This record gives sequence, structure tokens and C-alpha cells, in this order.
Amino acid sequence: MVALATHPQKGKVAVITGGARGIGAATAKAFAENGAHVIIADILDEPGTKLADSICGRYTHCDVSNESDVERAIRLAVDWKGRLDVMFNNAGISGPDCSITNLKTDHLTSLLAINLNGVMHGIKHAARAMIEREIRGTIICSSSSAAIMGGLASHAYTLSKEAILGLARSTACELGVHGIRVNCISPHGVPSEMLVSGFRRVLGNPDLQPEDVSNIVGERGSLLRGRGASVEDVAQGVLFLASDDAGFITGHNLVIDGGYTSGNNQMS
Ligand code: NAD
Repeated sequence: MVALATHPQKGKVAVITGGARGIGAATAKAFAENGAHVIIADILDEPGTKLADSICGRYTHCDVSNESDVERAIRLAVDWKGRLDVMFNNAGISGPDCSITNLKTDHLTSLLAINLNGVMHGIKHAARAMIEREIRGTIICSSSSAAIMGGLASHAYTLSKEAILGLARSTACELGVHGIRVNCISPHGVPSEMLVSGFRRVLGNPDLQPEDVSNIVGERGSLLRGRGASVEDVAQGVLFLASDDAGFITGHNLVIDGGYTSGNNQMS
């Protein structure tokens, strides 16, 4: 486990979509440990509530594809603490694993409803809440290494993550005048439920464990041999982007991939 960064978030209010498990859960814990008040917005009610209770935060059922759910999550932040400082648009799904010759418009539509519309809903309502209260807040969106390098994920997922980069850049241009920063993170190879189940499917091995995926990434999925990614690695990146330490960083994509998309390590 990696030691958590200490980028202060004291008194800040953060909404984290998809915060019930994986990267979102690690980020929720990291924000709470750094002094923030955290709202977890997810569709996994039981783990989400349990985690929120353990960090003195709040949980709200929120399907990010449903705009009114996202609006309600942000209203909860404002009703609870009178403000919103950080919006982490993290919720996302993978799949479907099918070739372009079999891809259906419906596949795209259902994935984009969560991965792209969900992010759009988050940016829109967070920006409204921040602008109305003149809060120089920060919005962080979860893209992926799949937006940088082809062939790492399904066509629909790749498309959604590339589109998020464009939307974040575009909204960073509009919201900068209000002092609101919009950035992305692009993780790679984090052994969350999403990635591990993907590896199980692709490798045809239902017994594969997170440690196995971490080892595979450590061997082949990063330039840092012997070092796989962890959810805490990503949480640290989010914490940094949300902190005042990153106060002049906007429209940026922070790639958290152990150098994987920078080049190959066949020569070393
Ligand atoms: P995960 O499956 O463990 O977590 C995803 C979370 O999103 C879950 O809590 C899930 O319940 C929630 N979620 C799914 N659909 C939702 C919806 N409609 N509304 C609200 N919440 C919903 O996976 P993770 O790896 O922690 O993924 C988090 C984000 O990181 C995703 O956007 C993913 O695409 C991105 N990402 C992950 C990796 C990786 O290597 N794991 C790499 C690049 C990007």
C-alpha cells in the first residue's frame, strides 16, 4: 500500500460519483483523511452507506445517467455544508467487448449514458452550484489510458473516455473565468472490480485475483517494473488536482499509468 498524500482539503466539500468501491472509495477515504466532508454518490447503496458512515460523510443513491440524481447529490452537499468545492466525476463502466463488425448503436448509447452523460451532468450541476456561490471550485473527471492508446479497451469505452477529455478541456475554457478548474485523470491498470472482471473475461480465468492483475500490470503494464498500480496511486492524483497546490492547473489530463502510454520498455 502507498502512503497517502497530504494535500490539505480542510473544510472542503467533495462529491464523488462511483465512490462506493474501487478508485472512488479510495479517493473518498483520502479526502476525508485530508479534512474534507465527502458525499458518496453511487448505485451500490450498502457499501456506499457503510463507507460514508466510516468517514463521517453522506451517501446518496445516484445513477449518474439520470440528471436529476446528480443534481440531487449536489444539492445534498449544499444543504449539508452550504457549499461544493470538489466534484469528482468518477463513476464509469466497461464493455461491451465486441468487434466493430458486431458493434450496435445500442451498445454505444447505453455505455455513453453512464460514462459520458454522467460526466456532463456532474460538470453542469457542479458548475451551477459553484458559480451561484462564487466558489472557485474544482472538477475532476475520470478518463483513461484507453483515451491515449488504442486497443486497451472496448470501442465504446475508448470513445467515451476520449470524449471526456474533450468535454473537460472545453468546459475548462468556459469556467476559468469563474476561477473553476476542470481537469482529468487517466489511470491505467488499477486492479479494481472493473479491471479484474475484465481480465477474467479476456484471459478466460474466473479465479484471477486482484493481486494477479497487479502482478501482470507490474510486469507488462508499466515502465516501472515490479510495481503495479493501486487505487491509492489514483487517489493521490485526484487529491493533488483538487488541492490549492494545483491552483494554476486546468484543462489538464493527469496520466497515472506508471509511464505505460509514454513508450515501451522492451529495451530495458
Ligand atoms: P469499479 O467498478 O470498482 O468502480 C466503479 C464505481 O462506479 C462503482 O462503485 C459502481 O457502482 C459505480 N457506478 C457504475 N455505474 C454507475 C452509475 N450509473 N451511477 C453511479 N455510479 C455508478 O471501477 P474503478 O476502476 O474504480 O473505476 C472508476 C473509474 O476509473 C471509472 O470511470 C473507470 O472507467 C476509470 N478507470 C479505471 C481504470 C482501472 O484500471 N481500474 C483505468 C482507467 C480508468
